[in-house]
Parts: sequence; structure tokens; C-alpha cells
Amino acid sequence: MDKYVPKMYKPNIQEVNYDKLKKNNIKCLIFDLDNTLMEVNSVTPTEDTCKLINRLKKDFNIYIISNNSHKERLTKVADALGIHYVGSAMKPFSKGFKKVLKENNYKKEDMCIIGDQIMTDILGGNRFGIYTVLVEPLSTEELKCTGINRFFEKKHLKRLAKQKKFNKGEYYD
Ligand SMILES: [Mg+2]
Repeated sequence: MDKYVPKMYKPNIQEVNYDKLKKNNIKCLIFDLDNTLMEVNSVTPTEDTCKLINRLKKDFNIYIISNNSHKERLTKVADALGIHYVGSAMKPFSKGFKKVLKENNYKKEDMCIIGDQIMTDILGGNRFGIYTVLVEPLSTEELKCTGINRFFEKKHLKRLAKQKKFNKGEYYD
């Protein structure tokens, strides 16, 4: 399988097929922070996000894994949602994923990453060997360091469309 193609693709975190993830025996959901769970620079999760996370807690152990190193913001968000977090994760490298795996004695099949970037969340998750879910970014406002990733993402999107492996906007489970 192409390492740049997600296993599931949805417009946002509300529309992810969590029943399917449960049926696939996923035990741990790992959310990316910026533009997946929260808009960039926002510190307060929306009511809808709080509701969703609370509902998901019944079935899954939930983490935020972010490349963001702003500990104060990460702590605030994680505390507000009552979930764990790993910061400065350096996705697509496996550091953050490994930490979650070890902390919980998981197997890779137990874990799923949900994120808005192919070059970090999806490539990192596929390389590590866990379930991958791509969602659209919440906003067009991005962190500076994301620009270079989007540049390469666009190149891969073009290639994937040509090879008929993935088309932007064509959502699937
Ligand atoms: Mg992101």
C-alpha cells in the first residue's frame, strides 16, 4: 500500500466512522492537534469537540500527539478534554507513537492516528504501521512550518490522483 494514502478519509473528526474503528478492534485514538482537533492558536475546544471526545472516551483511550511544542497550550487543551498528550512528537517520525505504544503496552493494530496532514500524520502512521484517518484542515490558517509540508503534500496529491490511488474530496471509509 502507498504510504501516503490514508485508510479512511473524511471531511472532519465528527464524520469519522468510529463504529468501523471499533469493529477493527482499535483501542486508542490519537488525534493531531492543529487544524484537526482545534484551529491553530485556539486554546478552548468547541462544545461539539468536547461532546465528541466525551462520547468516544467510552470506547477508546484518547491521546493528542502534536508536533507543536507549546506545552502550555497542549496542557490546556488536553486538560479541558480530559485526555493524554504527547508534544514535540516530530511526526512523521515514530517517537510519539512509540511512547503511546509503550505506555499502554499496545500492539500497533490497537492504534489509530487521525490528522489533517499527509506528510506528517498519514505518512508517520502508515510507516509506523497503525490505522490512519485523514480529515480536511479546520481552517486555511496554518502554522509557518506547515507550509513546506503542504508543498510536498500537493506534489503527492497530484501523483496519487494520476495513479488513481487517492482523490482529494472523495471521502471513503
Ligand atoms: Mg495538523
